[in-house]
Amino acid sequence: MSRTVYVNGEYLPEEDAKISIFDRSFLMADGVYEVTSVLGGKLLDFDGHLARLERSLTELDMEKPEAFGDLLEIHRKLVELNEIDEGLVYLQVSRGSAGDRDFVFPDPEVVKPTLVLFTQSKPGLTQGGAAVQNGIKVISVEDIRWGRRDIKTTQLLYPSMCKMMAKQAGADDVFLVEDGKVTEGSSNNAYIVKDGKIITRHLSNDILHGITRAAVLRFAREAQMEVEERAFTVEEAQNADEAFITSASTFVFPVVEVDGAKLGDGTPGPVAARLREIYLDESLKTAI
Ligand code: PMP
Repeated sequence: MSRTVYVNGEYLPEEDAKISIFDRSFLMADGVYEVTSVLGGKLLDFDGHLARLERSLTELDMEKPEAFGDLLEIHRKLVELNEIDEGLVYLQVSRGSAGDRDFVFPDPEVVKPTLVLFTQSKPGLTQGGAAVQNGIKVISVEDIRWGRRDIKTTQLLYPSMCKMMAKQAGADDVFLVEDGKVTEGSSNNAYIVKDGKIITRHLSNDILHGITRAAVLRFAREAQMEVEERAFTVEEAQNADEAFITSASTFVFPVVEVDGAKLGDGTPGPVAARLREIYLDESLKTAI
């Protein structure tokens, strides 16, 4: 079934949606994006995603799209039109098209940002399928991304390559490693659990400030779990009691293997399971 998508003020069948070949997100990856999950037809952590979008735009000196104030309504309308019960809303803002290719940013008075949104239906998102049942395997890969990973840009070639490296190695994802320490996953934040303590890298420009990360850490602290925000090594991960990843599209997935080494007894751990449960319960209460 053809989706209805949103492009610069219009709701269109996906096959009729068009942007210029000169759009800067196409030519320069000069764009930022957000992915918001939908459960029971409602948006999770919407305010967090909107706030991070605003920050990404500010950091890149990119104009807010004219429809910025209508984003909640646009998200909701797409969810409704496409009858999304469980799924995702993808949003992308680019610096627009100056009608030619030029490295220099176009004049924002003249060239307006491009705003695109579309939905992805993901039945079974709450359950999480095999990843939640059996856990996922990760391999470590060098983190050679740029130095502003806190900005959610559409430069996703290396993360895509990482997913392929994982696939070729018979794994599901990667832990990116810089200076001997894990930064994050290819499209998620990374955590280990040791002696009941949840350890995840501190916020900086080296990682994306995950919206799910913020919520999960808040819920963990509220549940009196101990949290330490610091970098950890692959070896520490291999010797941890358990590990997990978080993102808007996975919520919490347990990690059961790092570079071929099984964690604990090689099955999903209780802390990850508990955090997934709390995250889903609490986030659904504030879903809009
Ligand atoms: N790190 C990276 C590199 C990501 O791409 C993502 C997901 N977009 C995350 C972390 C998790 O962020 P969030 O919880 O906001 O989805």
